[in-house]
Amino acid sequence: MASVFDDLVGQEHIIDILKNAVTASRTGSDSQEMTHAWVFTGPPGSGRSSAAVAFAQALICPNQGCGACNECQSAATGGHPDVEVIRTEGLSIKVEEIRELLTRVAWAPSMGGWRVVVMEDADRLTESAASALLKAIEEPGTRTVWLLCAPTLHDVLPTIRSRCRHLQLRTPSIDAVTQVLIKRDDISPTMADFAARVSQGHIGRARYLATNESVRSNRKVIMLLPLQLGSLAAAFHAAQALIDLATEEASTSSESRDEKEIEKLQEAYGKGATGRGMATGAAKAVKELEKEQKSRATRMVRDAIDVALIDLATFYRDVMLVQAGDKGPIVNSDMRTEIESFASSISTHSAVQKMSAIMEARKYLAMNAAPLMTCEAMMCRLARV
Ligand SMILES: [Zn+2]
Repeated sequence: MASVFDDLVGQEHIIDILKNAVTASRTGSDSQEMTHAWVFTGPPGSGRSSAAVAFAQALICPNQGCGACNECQSAATGGHPDVEVIRTEGLSIKVEEIRELLTRVAWAPSMGGWRVVVMEDADRLTESAASALLKAIEEPGTRTVWLLCAPTLHDVLPTIRSRCRHLQLRTPSIDAVTQVLIKRDDISPTMADFAARVSQGHIGRARYLATNESVRSNRKVIMLLPLQLGSLAAAFHAAQALIDLATEEASTSSESRDEKEIEKLQEAYGKGATGRGMATGAAKAVKELEKEQKSRATRMVRDAIDVALIDLATFYRDVMLVQAGDKGPIVNSDMRTEIESFASSISTHSAVQKMSAIMEARKYLAMNAAPLMTCEAMMCRLARV
């Protein structure tokens, strides 16, 4: 029988645990298998939030997660009254948001089973938000199940993580991702292999690349940058190009969504209504929404820059592999000739330094450094021979 857990690629080691928990949750006994607070960790793209959502579906589905019934489907699309998926658009989850959430989930589950909250970015909880959440998690006898997702356990406050059961997802193998793209998304084997390889096990990114021509060509431009760093002027130019591409990628995916959101909000307030109170209320709400959208746009640009830097890093990783005499597959096999000649033109020491320049830039950006300046500094280090 099909199950919501089928889509979790390369995570067999946790699927059994989740299935046992679902079974235990039905018996009503105080079993070890079921607990009401969980943390899902794993590298980006391993599917930690997909795993959490699948678990949520299975908990509320009468068939333990068939994926086909009303409960399963409404849970996945955000339409189930007992399942709430918190996706952060901003840079942090604030205490007010948690308080609102707690009021919403204070009611008993409408269908009598469990109420499930999936928090996709528990690492973005501010400290006060985390302590508000902690109180809810500690509450005894609750029918709410908390599924928190974060990159690593260190990203979750110790007080919270000590009360949660921890599940660590793995990066799925390139082969596993390729197979999913072919079977589930109907992508050609050659394209699936390329996308899986350059995305290094990040399923979402792999699918995005495989199905999106402009994303692929943007990536290609980024990957050619290391070959065009002949002077400092070229380095500054490359930094600007990287930022422009990342900004473009982020804005194409957010613009239409922004517009739709504003339209929906105006409809909710009765577009064209002339009542004075109505107009000010709507204007205020639109202003709030625009503020949120701006903060989301900033985050999306930063995420896109990070993806570009990870892509760039694969170039130097391949260079180092070639320098080490490794004859195995490289990530950017479509650029093997360029990578081989680049590898013979610089020392291993220099390749290592370039790789650390990229990693340092990622670190600074994660600490909110100015994107253009950080990339300029990085490109200058990449340009140095
Ligand atoms: Zn179902």
